[in-house]
This record gives sequence, structure tokens and C-alpha cells, in this order.
Amino acid sequence: MARRTMLSCLLPGALSPLFCLWAVLLPVVSPNSLNHHEHQDPRPKLLLVSFDGFRWDYIDRVPTPNFRKVMDEGVKVEFVENVYITKTYPNHYSMVTGLYAETHGIVANEMYDPALNLSFSMETDSMYDPRWWEEAAPLWVTIQKDGGRSGAAMWPGSDVKIHGMFPTRYLQYNASVSFEYRVRRLVEWLSAPEEEAVDFGVLYWEEPDESGHNLGPQSPLMDAIIAGIDEKLGFLMDELKKAGLYEKVNLIVTSDHGMAQLSPEKIIELDEYVDRDLYTWVDKSPVVGIMPKEGKVDEVYGLLMDANPNMVAYKKEEVPARLHYQHNIRITPILLEAKEGWTIMQNRSGPFMLGNHGYDNTLRSMQPVFVARGPAFRQNYVKTAMRSIDLYPLMCHILSTRPLPNNGSLLNIQDLLSSEPAASTPTPAHPATPPEHHGYSYAPVVGSFIGVVMVLGFLVVYVLLVTLKQRPALKHRSWEMSQPLLQEDLHL
Ligand SMILES: [Zn+2]
Repeated sequence: MARRTMLSCLLPGALSPLFCLWAVLLPVVSPNSLNHHEHQDPRPKLLLVSFDGFRWDYIDRVPTPNFRKVMDEGVKVEFVENVYITKTYPNHYSMVTGLYAETHGIVANEMYDPALNLSFSMETDSMYDPRWWEEAAPLWVTIQKDGGRSGAAMWPGSDVKIHGMFPTRYLQYNASVSFEYRVRRLVEWLSAPEEEAVDFGVLYWEEPDESGHNLGPQSPLMDAIIAGIDEKLGFLMDELKKAGLYEKVNLIVTSDHGMAQLSPEKIIELDEYVDRDLYTWVDKSPVVGIMPKEGKVDEVYGLLMDANPNMVAYKKEEVPARLHYQHNIRITPILLEAKEGWTIMQNRSGPFMLGNHGYDNTLRSMQPVFVARGPAFRQNYVKTAMRSIDLYPLMCHILSTRPLPNNGSLLNIQDLLSSEPAASTPTPAHPATPPEHHGYSYAPVVGSFIGVVMVLGFLVVYVLLVTLKQRPALKHRSWEMSQPLLQEDLHL
């Protein structure tokens, strides 16, 4: 767009100085003039895929040719710091909002809200109550308010009416619906006629999380599960190719968290330390939400603070700031965090799993895979580290939609892109984000200034030429000068 504008000004004939001045000044008077709405280019397409619990190093454990292909044709990030707690719901909502859990409000898979006097569980219909989700707005809501369309296949929260809307196309959550069905629906929505096609798709698959919990990540049986996920990715890529979308869609394949190996030898039994009558157990191991009965916070905390060397007890206000996990009414007054590989239970009679996640988000075992390819991404590029909250401003940039205030930073992650972001869609500042994270470029202003100077120079020369040599032709040219909107007919 910008290049075409400058080219127009170099061409004689149908072009008038007034048109050139209008064209060059356009970016100055209208900061959103590069927005897709204004020149009706189709919005770029983006498909975000999450394989639940796909740990970062699974791709190196068995041959994963399809992950390799995405990496070779695109980018890979080695260290992805997700958000605390490293559970499914908080992290999936962070990916589509760019917010820490304390800010978007989905602080755990199991929650209690004292203001609403309601409990949330990913295993009950409580998760369909919009009030749990509306402390933030997911990207599908933002893009639809911006005139775009989105499609969702089972992504957590995508079948909830948030801020009055569902995704344009979505599937009601049903774990028994096959991966292949989910993919076919999404590809159908992405490849629909232009006036119906979705721009942004999200796809969720329950594995390898489920097997990781049951088998433990160290089990040799996990090899086949991981190879099976790679085949599923291959299926997705084939379907995109069949629909002619493979080179058009920006494909991001990631996960919400990793998985740690547990052991029946590493169990902490709370009943040894504190009476069950003193508290309500809100969220499960390895970060257990403890809500003491009224007036019992200090007593319960006193009983738990040094109870076991493999468990840390935090009063809510003492949770380390780096975890961004304090400032929400849904975070319980006391949190118990197990050390990696340890399980907190009330006693051993409860169900035990061989793998789990939820631990500190700086632990390597908790971190997810990240690969991406498509027209927006560089090729064969490996980045060392990113934060999962940076994904949101990156996706907004790719989709040409203005991000809502968020904790992420496009600047941190823009080296993944095949071209430098223009300054037309800056990330608005968020109170929780240091100001140096927000890059505004002066390039358009300088460019526009140079353009204006060039046009003024051209005008002077033109006026001199016309008034001195071509005076009789002015009557005919005046019609062209009043028609700047004819630029679309120029076929430059
Ligand atoms: Zn998960």
C-alpha cells in the first residue's frame, strides 16, 4: 500500500499533484489507513493449534517429521515460559488474551469466587457461566468486533458466550469428537467463500495430556502417543493443502504446559498436618488452593508453613511477584505448591496420577512446544525464548487487529516474523507492562514528511511548467485533479 502510493506520485499522465498530495498525506491524517478494512484486502488467516500437555522436548524423543517440517519451513522457540499456574484453563485463556491468570480471572481449573459465591469446575456446567470469563476478552471476540470472523474447535472457553458473543463458527465441547472431525470443520470454515470465511481459527486436542497423566511422561508407552500426535499434525497439514490453504494460513502449533513424572513415593498427606474442618480444598495438586474457614487463615497457615520440606505454603499476599498470581479474588488466601514430582493429597485414598503439571512455570518440565509456519513467519529460524503471553500481540499483528491492553509484547517476539511490523497497530500500554516493551516507530512520520516535501517540490515544478508552457490544457486537467479516488483504476 505504502509503496503503491509512492509509485503513483512518480507517474505522469492521469496523476495530478492534488491526488499525490492526498495520497501521501493519507497515512498522516488517518493512522489506521493501512488497516485491511480500508482497501478491502482479505485479512490474513491464522490457525492456532494446542495439543494439550505437549512438552517442549517431546519432538526430540521420537521421529516427528511433521513437527520438523513446520520448523524447517517456519520457526521454532526452544524455551516457552507459560503462565502460573501451569494448568490447562489458565494457560489456554492466557494464549488468547495475552494476560496473566490473575488478570484474566481464569486462575485455575477449579475455582471459588467469594463475590459471586460460585464454584467453577472444568468438569461441570459451571464453566459455561460467562461471569467467570468476562474479566478479559479473548481474541475471537476482539476480531469479531473488528469486523472479522473466527472459528473454534473445542478451545477452552470458546463455547461460552463471552461479552455477548460466541465465535462465528464453533463446536460445543465434546471430548469424544475426533481430531479429524475438528480439523475438517475448521478447514471448511477457513476455506469458505470470502464473505463467510473465518480469519482466525483455534483448535484444541486433549492429547498427549491425558496419556501423560495416566502413564507418566517417562513411560516408554508415551513414544507411540507422541508419534500419534505428529501424525495428527500431518493430517491437519494435508487437509490444509487439499483446501489450497497451506501457503495462505499462518499455522501456530503449541501447547498449554508440559508434564512432570510423579512417584507414589512422593506424596504429601495434608491430613498429617491440618484438620479438614479448618479449611475448604478448592484446587488440586500440585498447586492446591486452600480456603481456611472464617477467621482461621493464620491458624491454618501456621500449621502448613513448615509442615513438609517438599511443599511451600504461601499466604496469597506472599506469592512471589514474578508468578503474577496474587491480584484476584479467586486466588485462595493460602496456596500450597509442591516441589517438582511431588503430589499433595489429603490422604492416600484419593486417585493418584503418574504425571502432572501446574508447578512453577520456570521449570523446564512445565514448558510447552512452539512451532509455526506461514507467510507471516520467517523460515528455518530458531528463537531461544519467549513468553506465552507474547503470543497474543503477535497474533493481533498477523491478523491486523488492534490488541486490547495485555501483558505481552510484540517487540519481544517480532523476530519470528518475516517482515518488521509497521507502527500502524502498536500494542497499547498495559499498567502491568514496562513501557520499554512498547515499540513505536517514527518511520511513517519521517516517511510522510519526506513525501510531503517531495510533493511540494513537484507542485512547484508542475505549476511553473503548466503556467508557463501548458496554460491552455488546464481546463482538461481539472477533471482529473478532482478525482483522487480513481487510484484503484490505475492498476499500478
Ligand atoms: Zn492442559
